Amino acid sequence: MHYTFPHYYRRFSCTGGSCPDTCCAGWQIQIDHASLKRYRKAKGLIGSRLKNEINWKDQCFRQYGGRCAFLNNDGLCDLYLEGGGEKAFCRTCRTYPRHIEEFEGLREVSLSLSCPAAAELILGNNEPVRFLEADVPSKEESYPDFDFFLFTKLTDARSLALRILQDRNHPFQTRAAIVLALAHDLQERIDRNALYAADDLLGRYASPSVWAWFEQQLARIHIDRKHTGNAAQTSGNLFVILNQLEVLRPEWKDRLRRARTALSAAPVFSPEQERHFQELFSDITGEQLMVYFVFTYFCGAVYNGNAYGKMKFSFACTLLIRELVRAEWIQKSGKMSYKDVISIAQKFSREIEHSDYNKIRIEKMLGDEERFGLEKMFAIL
Ligand code: SF4
Repeated sequence: MHYTFPHYYRRFSCTGGSCPDTCCAGWQIQIDHASLKRYRKAKGLIGSRLKNEINWKDQCFRQYGGRCAFLNNDGLCDLYLEGGGEKAFCRTCRTYPRHIEEFEGLREVSLSLSCPAAAELILGNNEPVRFLEADVPSKEESYPDFDFFLFTKLTDARSLALRILQDRNHPFQTRAAIVLALAHDLQERIDRNALYAADDLLGRYASPSVWAWFEQQLARIHIDRKHTGNAAQTSGNLFVILNQLEVLRPEWKDRLRRARTALSAAPVFSPEQERHFQELFSDITGEQLMVYFVFTYFCGAVYNGNAYGKMKFSFACTLLIRELVRAEWIQKSGKMSYKDVISIAQKFSREIEHSDYNKIRIEKMLGDEERFGLEKMFAIL
């Protein structure tokens, strides 16, 4: 089996009892079949606790006050402490915050932004992310319907997109606009069954002249008198999407409501404010977020054919996090640290990335080209 993972992956270490937002609270932990079988046979004190503290019908650990039944007052896991360490965990607890995307003969492993310690690694990292590879002997597997040709084009497009996103000779806005347009054009070829033309397309987007062309387009959109209206409208529409999602934590709704109020009270920043804001939420922050989302989700388009939707998802998540930071910056009159930025991104990820319903719904709603077409999306950059 071939593995790909970001260079910071091996630096991860769980902060356990001192974690500010433990993964053992706030969501239901599903138990896989093999672990359920093991827990059923467990003996002694831990065995009887397991019998009582598992919801056998829903196949998850019981929760009290939103906390896993095994999470003790020190923020540590009793199942780990009394059950013999990591081997006592179910698959979810053993794996988290590792996130695995599965493809034929390939596993793409990342760390989830929803874990505070992982978020520190992802956003506290200034250098461009490198992706490392490894081969591990394993059983042959077969994915009968796997479209290998499409997957190859998606991985080629993603490599180019990541290269563009990490080209620090240009502003993040231009980089993000180019990769969104690239996915738009690739989608057009996927839809008309013309993937043979994808290489030419990638060649055009790899050419140095692409930068000047997009810089001109963005400048036109930004001086267009309708730009301010478009930006506020698109940003508002993105928040409308957030309001229609499954809510995993009650306080999230309140955060969104406050953010929308703050943003509508100050829809446009003065150049001075914008400069200060960019010191907090820099191009590097935008890059690391978008690289994270694109690496994690873009190639999943092999399963639904929606490359543009995956890129829009990455683009929208990055900009929504930026807007949530902006809202808090307004509310706190600019008194924020980079730790607050990391915390907002982590909380966003908890709400969005751990609900399949939310991810699918966002991708679907972003498909509305009237509200989220290329130029509308460019306007919020
Ligand atoms: S959220 Fe991350 S750092 Fe916190 S307890 Fe879970 S794995 Fe550890």
